[in-house]
Amino acid sequence: MRILITGGAGFIGSHLAEALLNAGEEVYIIDDLSTGSMDNIHLLEKNCPKNNSLFFHKNSILDYDIMLELVGTCDMVYHLAAAVGVRYILDNPLKSIQINIQGTEKVMELCAKFKKKILIASSSEVYGKHLHAPLVETDNIIYGPSSKFRWSYAASKLIDEFLAIAYHRMTDLDIVIARLFNTVGPRQTGAYGMVIPRLVQQALNNEPLTVYGDGTQTRTFTHVKDVVHALISLMNTPSAIAEIFNIGGIQEISIIDLAKKIIDVTGSSSQIECIPYEKAFAKDFEDMQRRVPSIEKISQHTGFKPHYTLDNILEEVAAYFSK
Ligand code: UDP
Repeated sequence: MRILITGGAGFIGSHLAEALLNAGEEVYIIDDLSTGSMDNIHLLEKNCPKNNSLFFHKNSILDYDIMLELVGTCDMVYHLAAAVGVRYILDNPLKSIQINIQGTEKVMELCAKFKKKILIASSSEVYGKHLHAPLVETDNIIYGPSSKFRWSYAASKLIDEFLAIAYHRMTDLDIVIARLFNTVGPRQTGAYGMVIPRLVQQALNNEPLTVYGDGTQTRTFTHVKDVVHALISLMNTPSAIAEIFNIGGIQEISIIDLAKKIIDVTGSSSQIECIPYEKAFAKDFEDMQRRVPSIEKISQHTGFKPHYTLDNILEEVAAYFSK
C-alpha cells in the first residue's frame, strides 16, 4: 500500500514511517522540517529494509500542488504535520495557528476529493485544564483566556477535530481522530520544551534539572512505539471511523518525582532546581496541572494496551542521549 505521512520527519512521524516501512508499505513523507529533522529521514533510509519505498518531499502541507499529487497517489493519510511543543507555539504563535488550521483543512479537502481515509493526530491539550482523572473522550473542555497563548494550540487542535467530523458528515470522508498524550522515546528533541529529553540530558551532564513551578503537576507518558502501534491499529479498525480516541499510558507521575527518577536511572549527581513559571516562560503561559488518559475506548476497539513502563522509557532515552 502507498501511505502518506504528513510530518513524517518529526519524532512520532519518523517512528511511524519506520514501522510502516518494516511492514513492507510504500511510505511518502511530506515535512517542511520546521521541527522535523533530516537526520530522521537519513536514519529511515539507512535502517529500513526496503529503503527504495521511501519518498521524501521537503514541502509545507500548505503547498497545494504537491499535496494534490501526494494525496492523489497514496491510499491513506496519517496527518501528523503540526506545530508542536509549548516552547515552539509560544515562539511562533501565528505560524502555529496557520499550520494547524489551514494546513489540516487543505489535507482534509484533498482527502475528501480523492476519497482517501485519514487519521488525524490531535492532542490531549484539547481537554484543557482539568484536575480530574482519567480524561474521557466525552469530557467537557476547559480553557484559559485567549490572552494566555498556550490555549491557541488546544483551540486549533479542537478546530481540527470539528473539521474532521464536519468533513465526515458532509462528504462521507473516512476519518479517525487520535488524541495523543505525552509521547516520548528515543529521537525526541528537547529543543521545543519537552520535559523528558530536557531533564535526561541535564542529568547526563550533571547539570541542575529544571523543574517548572513546584513540580506537583502530573503527566502520563507513552513510549512512541506504543503510540505508533495504536495509530496503525486505529487506521485498520473499521469501527474507529468517525470516532475520537485517547492514546496514552497508565502511569501518572508528578514532574518532581519524574526528575528524581531520572536522577536515579542515570546515576547523576544533579540537583533539582524549581524554576517559577514566570521565569521559564513569557507572561502569557499557563500550565496544565494534571493529565491522565482513559484508554478504555481504544482498548475496546483495538485491544490496545501500552507495553513500555516509564522505567523502560527513561532507560531507552538515557541510552539514546549517552550515545
Ligand atoms: N517541564 C519542566 N521542565 C522542563 C520542561 C517542562 O518542569 O524543562 C514541565 C512543564 O511545565 C509541564 C511538564 O513538564 O508541566 C510537561 O511538559 P512538556 O512540555 O513535555 O509537555 P506538555 O506541557 O505539553 O504536557
